[in-house]
Amino acid sequence: MDSEEAAALVDELESVSSELQAVEIQLQELLERQQELIQRKRLLNKKIQRLSEDSGPGTSAGGGDSAENWQKEDFLWSQKIRDALCNSFQLRSFRSLQLETINATMAGRDVFLIMPTGGGKSLCYQLPAVCSDGFTLVICPLVSLMEDQLMVLDRLGVSATSLNASSSKEHVKWVHGEMTNKNSRLKLLYVTPEKIAKSKLFMSRLEKAYQAGLLARVAVDEVHCCSQWGHDFRPDYKTLGILKRQFPNSPLIGLTATATTHVLKDAQKILCVPKPLTFTASFNRPNLFYEVRLKPSSSQDFIADIVKLINSRYRGQSGIIYCFSQKDSEHVTMSLQKLGIRAGTYHANMEPRDKTKVHTKWTANEIQIVVATVAFGMGIDKPDVRFVIHHSMSKSMENYYQESGRAGRDDARADCILYYGFGDIFRISSMVVMENVGQKKLYEMVGYCQSPDRCRRVLIAQHFDEVWDSAKCNKMCDNCNSEGGWEKADITPYCRDIVKILEQANQMDEKLTPLKLMDAWVGKGVAKLRVPGVRPPQLPRPEIERIIAHLLLQQFLREDFSFTAYATISYIKRGPKVDLLRSDKYAICLPMRSGGAGAGADKVKSPQQSTSQSLAPKVSVTTSKNSGRKRPKAEKVSVAKKSKVTNDDSIVID
Ligand code: ADP
Ligand code: MG
Ligand code: ZN
Repeated sequence: MDSEEAAALVDELESVSSELQAVEIQLQELLERQQELIQRKRLLNKKIQRLSEDSGPGTSAGGGDSAENWQKEDFLWSQKIRDALCNSFQLRSFRSLQLETINATMAGRDVFLIMPTGGGKSLCYQLPAVCSDGFTLVICPLVSLMEDQLMVLDRLGVSATSLNASSSKEHVKWVHGEMTNKNSRLKLLYVTPEKIAKSKLFMSRLEKAYQAGLLARVAVDEVHCCSQWGHDFRPDYKTLGILKRQFPNSPLIGLTATATTHVLKDAQKILCVPKPLTFTASFNRPNLFYEVRLKPSSSQDFIADIVKLINSRYRGQSGIIYCFSQKDSEHVTMSLQKLGIRAGTYHANMEPRDKTKVHTKWTANEIQIVVATVAFGMGIDKPDVRFVIHHSMSKSMENYYQESGRAGRDDARADCILYYGFGDIFRISSMVVMENVGQKKLYEMVGYCQSPDRCRRVLIAQHFDEVWDSAKCNKMCDNCNSEGGWEKADITPYCRDIVKILEQANQMDEKLTPLKLMDAWVGKGVAKLRVPGVRPPQLPRPEIERIIAHLLLQQFLREDFSFTAYATISYIKRGPKVDLLRSDKYAICLPMRSGGAGAGADKVKSPQQSTSQSLAPKVSVTTSKNSGRKRPKAEKVSVAKKSKVTNDDSIVID
């Protein structure tokens, strides 16, 4: 075989291989989409079934597992529970799903309760504990969380305690005694999962208590910690399956604010409760207004923006500003204080005494704003927080939901404003690079920020596997509340240009940071990095950033990390999907403002279309290459004003 022929064959092989790889990615995506749709179908069926049950006769009569069946107050224990609610807990009524959950666990069922933070999950095991013989074992991830609960229970006069590393010998002995004492008043015993995993002595006491019929139930708080996929995975949670295996007749109740299906499935498997009764409270917080703002590029402008909000809309009102780093939080606090705003910092690196001081002063409204890192979280229960501002996006949607959810606990209107900065993507991704699914979660967060045209609640709901109709948002998010229309613009030519720049840099053995890449594209920076023939895009900076971020999310680009002793640097490389561009039938689309008044600046022009013509979508109905069948998901995008598109990432094939 002559060498030319061999080279040609190798060339072809290479090309076939990369196209094959691209096809595999597509298949993967379709499979994922299939799973999503199956899941959605299941949810919709469930909803429809529930609706028809509601309207059908005799709903309340039959047994069954729907929440409605557990809402009754004619159980054997109902009177006792009412009394405990008013007398022991000094509350007047149950919140949504509390009664149902309490009834189910009192009936001996294994239950999972998914309820947003602040919804009132603790009551769902504390109250049954008071109404049952024996004691309830509560697994709790943090000693500080236990202490918060123990303080409240102590005030209410409910006998509860904990065992942890700093418990004295005498205390341990006393608790061990109470566990098997039929006449004990102890109702709740809090431990960390480590106790179960590591203390054989404790397990043997549990065993005895169980045999004596005194282990009333097991509550696993923050149950998502079992799952690798949960946002704060704790390895020792993995061992908790032993509880159900050893104590099958003590009902288990798992509680979390994380509703992601695979996290829950995983947790159920790990805990050996294959089919718990599952109650899910809606993620929706109707009183919260969600908004994403573009982060001003200078920190002075940024502070000015925040100060304006605080001094006008939020004058005299309580709020939280979440920052990416301790340094940021200190810097912002100082800037605010200089302007006479009562702000205090809170981060993990402070003395416990100082942290408590800030928290207490804020709770008493002596400080208006806490400027904090994620460390300010667990155990915060101030009802009248009117705004939560994110100085930088969170590292995941779960985190964002929890952090922003600290606003408006009193059910009055409150705002959740997130400042989205392109640079933050790389700051955060360098930080989460070591985490298992850190980047995937970050990109979901970026996806939320990058969507200008979809109801924020729909985006949040999707994340929590909930079906949500944007009409129910009541214009309580920036996107539902905005007048402008969107149209899909074809950004494929831009992508090709960017890839050219990256390929050339690669040949020169140059690595491009996002900033260098953008410079090369817009014709700035080092001359040798520019590519002849690539015309700078005539777009404002934020649009350029949005395109690059979109290409990252869509895997046409990818981040590549380089570790130095001092920092982790993110470089941009060609992504795994780049080979899809070999076919000129591909189009990558991104929603852009349609040509309404006042929105002109945002409009994309493709490099090939140098005229003022707006970039209409190249193809608007996606069809499969082989069958020519129309895919129902893709929608016809009209270029008319006010058209709203609902998906920003279609890949279009003729
Ligand atoms: P979660 O664990 O779901 O984040 P908690 O159990 O810590 O929430 O409860 C949050 C707050 O709600 C607590 O201050 C609690 O006292 C309050 N709460 C719980 N249930 C009720 C209720 N039925 N009525 C009034 N307040 C309640
Ligand atoms: Mg809780
Ligand atoms: Zn909305």
